[in-house]
Amino acid sequence: MGALSTSEIDALGARAEAMVNALGAISAEPDRLVRLFLTPEHRRAADRVAEWMRKAGLEVAEDALGTLRGRLEGQGGKRLLIGSHIDTVIDAGKYDGPFGVIAGILAIEHFARAGKRLPFGIDVLAFGDEEGSRFPVTLTSSSACAGIFTPEMLALADRNGVTLADAIKAYGKSPAEIPGAAHSPDETAAYVEVHIEQGPVLEARNQPLGVVTAIIGQTYLNVEFSGQAGHAGTVPMLLRRDALAGAAEAILVGETLARETKGEVVATVGRMSVSPGASNVIPGNVAVVFDIRSGSEAARAKLVEALTWGIREIADRRHLGLTIASTREVATTPCHPYIQDQFAEAIRALGADPLRLGSGAGHDGQAMARLCPIGMLFLRCRGGISHNPMEYASPRDLGLAVAALIGFIERFDPGKL
Ligand SMILES: [Zn+2]
Repeated sequence: MGALSTSEIDALGARAEAMVNALGAISAEPDRLVRLFLTPEHRRAADRVAEWMRKAGLEVAEDALGTLRGRLEGQGGKRLLIGSHIDTVIDAGKYDGPFGVIAGILAIEHFARAGKRLPFGIDVLAFGDEEGSRFPVTLTSSSACAGIFTPEMLALADRNGVTLADAIKAYGKSPAEIPGAAHSPDETAAYVEVHIEQGPVLEARNQPLGVVTAIIGQTYLNVEFSGQAGHAGTVPMLLRRDALAGAAEAILVGETLARETKGEVVATVGRMSVSPGASNVIPGNVAVVFDIRSGSEAARAKLVEALTWGIREIADRRHLGLTIASTREVATTPCHPYIQDQFAEAIRALGADPLRLGSGAGHDGQAMARLCPIGMLFLRCRGGISHNPMEYASPRDLGLAVAALIGFIERFDPGKL
């Protein structure tokens, strides 16, 4: 199969955009996009995707968590899985998730139409629970496919008190059949996903496509400073034990340490509680949460250690009580180097420069990595905006992303993993 022409790529982009718009119209609310896991909107979106899969020549099945699977048989051996999610956040954009599923369908259709059997089979997967917008858990559908779903998840309830188990039944499925959703590691070569970047890097570098190096790990560091609340007018500055001034210094230490890594680590404090919280009272107690992320486990650990040391020094110097606890540790999920290289080759063949970048957002690949090697392809989105109705990717970039996925499939050899 030869390279795709510009007009073929544009035709793929136009079709992808129409499909993105079709799914974007399926919402629980008339004025904004809301499509939660195991709801009637999920059902409608899945039915639409199933119809596209059948038209593309795929054999469609659905597992106990509503994950759709469109299968193209190959000449045997292991299968390549291509997936993304069709659930959304509340007041979502149209591209986050659905485009990855659509790219998979359009890429497979390209091969199904050619009528030539690939050396390996392909499954396109449409997961229903990536955003975690309904239940206080996320990646349940990809966890089931990866064989790491835990039954404790079934008891978790949404805002209306409906448990995951009950929602599965209401969707016409059976929780008892979840183990059957697991793909066999012996039959699975790799999992790949195409996704909008959800950040500004590709746009800033003027490149349509990028190769993801890793889905980056995360630490939540909960830090609480306790000082002495007191009268803002009567307590002299030198006698104060101001918990907020200590926290402010700590936040700047976090920012400085992250800046010194030159992009390797990002650190954010987006939430702080100040007690007693009155403008005429010296703050007695302050709790902040540091969100620290990096594609490198070592770099993240190093920053957490340096920050912890810095915070202790601040508390000592200011005579503040201190507690530090790590409340969330998510390991970095590396993308397989072979998969990265094949995506890079496919991008180069389209005349673009394959920028390599980490994913700051979580993805289904974090669960699928427990099953098989994973990889991701990013495409540029306008302004880096995501989780917002302003989310946008141009039809040209959508077409290039599908073309790069086709190029990846042409290059992919499960024996080289
Ligand atoms: Zn997503």
